[in-house]
Amino acid sequence: MWPLKRECSCTSAQMHYSSSKMTRRGVYLMNHYDVVVVGAGPAGCATAIACAQRGMQVALLERATFPRHRPGETLHPAIEPLLEQLGMQGELTELPCLRHEGHWVHWDAAPRLIKFGEDAAGPWRGFQIQRAAFDALLLGRARALGVQIMQPCQHPTAMCKGNTITGVNLMSHRLTATYVVDASGRHGWLRRQLPMQWLEFSPRLIARYGYCQGEWELVHDAPRLLATQDGWQWIARVDTNQLHWTTLSWHTNSNLIAEPPDPLKHLTPVGPVRGAAVSWRLSAAPMGPGYVLVGDAAAVLDPASSHGVLKALMCGMQAAQAITDCLAWPHGEHAVHNHFKNWLHTQFNTDLKALRHFYSVHPCAPAWI
Ligand SMILES: Cc1cc2nc3c(=O)[nH]c(=O)nc-3n(C[C@H](O)[C@H](O)[C@H](O)COP(=O)(O)OP(=O)(O)OC[C@H]3O[C@@H](n4cnc5c(N)ncnc54)[C@H](O)[C@@H]3O)c2cc1C
Repeated sequence: MWPLKRECSCTSAQMHYSSSKMTRRGVYLMNHYDVVVVGAGPAGCATAIACAQRGMQVALLERATFPRHRPGETLHPAIEPLLEQLGMQGELTELPCLRHEGHWVHWDAAPRLIKFGEDAAGPWRGFQIQRAAFDALLLGRARALGVQIMQPCQHPTAMCKGNTITGVNLMSHRLTATYVVDASGRHGWLRRQLPMQWLEFSPRLIARYGYCQGEWELVHDAPRLLATQDGWQWIARVDTNQLHWTTLSWHTNSNLIAEPPDPLKHLTPVGPVRGAAVSWRLSAAPMGPGYVLVGDAAAVLDPASSHGVLKALMCGMQAAQAITDCLAWPHGEHAVHNHFKNWLHTQFNTDLKALRHFYSVHPCAPAWI
């Protein structure tokens, strides 16, 4: 039987249907959902919430126990209206967070504050949050809508019939689904199991990041992005006494550099220095028979623009609409898959163009640009 207590904790929600089946390996439980989502980051939670809002039966599988570490703490103000659509009006501002009107950029000219924008109500302000708290907020909303949450859920594998993804295998438990959503982030859960075509737009890029604490002269200021000799560094205050830094170098031999940027060398490091593969890539077929890729599992650009979380939410919501369309119009599935792909590729190409332009005016622009 499915070792519920050891493997995962399931909450609320009725399953679409439940049955058990006897095989040579024993009895396993089978449940059917409209949608099974793998990964409970912003992309996975947004997909699960938006599908549940449309009345679908959804299961959300997350391998890590929360709170878990994830980079991505500087949020663009456009997050707010998206959260409203997901039924989370005002909840972000209730989290402990710092607000800022833009980013200081020291790149091709003197340092300047690039603002997010403004409207009649005043300047738009971004958020500096703790990702763990933000992700817990999203997961809580999914749970409240009746999404079946399985966490920690180890080693899910994709179930296929021909070229269609039909569900997810979990040891002695099987979840069949009309759509399986890969929201596993850069880890690329589905890509590791099935041959999938990817479009590459940069050489291998590794971002290094970490935290430190102590007094910093610009500690009360907005996040800042500085050009370095072979890349850039990003520094943002995450709370009263703690700073986040990320560095990226486009020289392959500098992968070994794993130290805080010079301006922070005198501060006390907190936790390990981590690395993340942030090579620019895009799935050639982000939606196909029985599956959708969302968030970083579908497309990655390096975090110079700090838009990853915003894009992940948008992508999850767009995927939920695409799944809704497919369920309502099965004969039009192929057209919907193409529409989702075109949407994602248009988004990506717009960001790619902006990032390429940004890198091209870097004082030491990389040759591959
Ligand atoms: C150094 C760095 C700094 C960044 N800074 C910012 C920033 O300031 N602002 C910003 O907006 N973006 C930033 N980003 C980008 C941002 O982190 C990502 O774009 C965003 O988190 C993508 O969301 P996601 O939901 O697609 O994936 P993730 O947030 O990575 O979530 C994926 C989830 O899937 C789970 N998972 C993985 N594999 C499995 C599996 N096999 N089974 C079940 N669950 C699984 C993981 O545990 C995780 O919870 C940064 C990225 C990096 C690398």
